[in-house]
Amino acid sequence: MKHLLQGYTRFRRDVFPGMKDHFHLLADIQQPDILFITCADSRVVPDLILQTEPGDMFLCRTAGNIVPPHGAMPGGVSATIEYAVAVLHVRHIIVCGHSDCGALKAVLDKPDLSRLPLTAKWLGYIEPAWKHLEPGLSTSDPRTLHTALIHANVIAQLENLKTHPEVARALALAHNTLEVHGWYYDILTGSIETWDQQTRRFLPLEEWASSAFLSAER
Ligand SMILES: [Zn+2]
Repeated sequence: MKHLLQGYTRFRRDVFPGMKDHFHLLADIQQPDILFITCADSRVVPDLILQTEPGDMFLCRTAGNIVPPHGAMPGGVSATIEYAVAVLHVRHIIVCGHSDCGALKAVLDKPDLSRLPLTAKWLGYIEPAWKHLEPGLSTSDPRTLHTALIHANVIAQLENLKTHPEVARALALAHNTLEVHGWYYDILTGSIETWDQQTRRFLPLEEWASSAFLSAER
């Protein structure tokens, strides 16, 4: 707890004064254009990785970056998505998984979860990920399988995301008001990959970005 209090002191003394004008603008309104859904894992720090500022991203964090399909578990995740799309009118929703994700590890290792009934039910939403595993993948190496399942889970949760009515409605509109993205963040290297629907591969974000910007210029 001590380091939190020390951090708060530094924030009030060294950081806040320099950002005063920014916070003044944000005091009564937020207009983020991104909903960022990621794992609750302490090693994934979106504002650090993406160098974003207060007001840039609406955040939703769940164990395993799980997005239950609409109707399955009405709760915070569904309400956050609904509000972000219908009220904040976010332009992008990013579902971001990460390396060494404990939720996916639990699915593979199958520990005794009898004392954790809510966790057991929650991890059940990862089940559809199996059908998104890379075809022909060798599943003999546990590390490779873990990483592949984390990638597959991003695709599965993107599919779940699209079952939410506000998302489905926005995606059906002709003029791209909303885009959804599936990302994978590697803690060891700090790099991000993004799911490319067309090639059905995860590409380095830089590669995807250069082709996306090129086609936007055309
Ligand atoms: Zn995780």
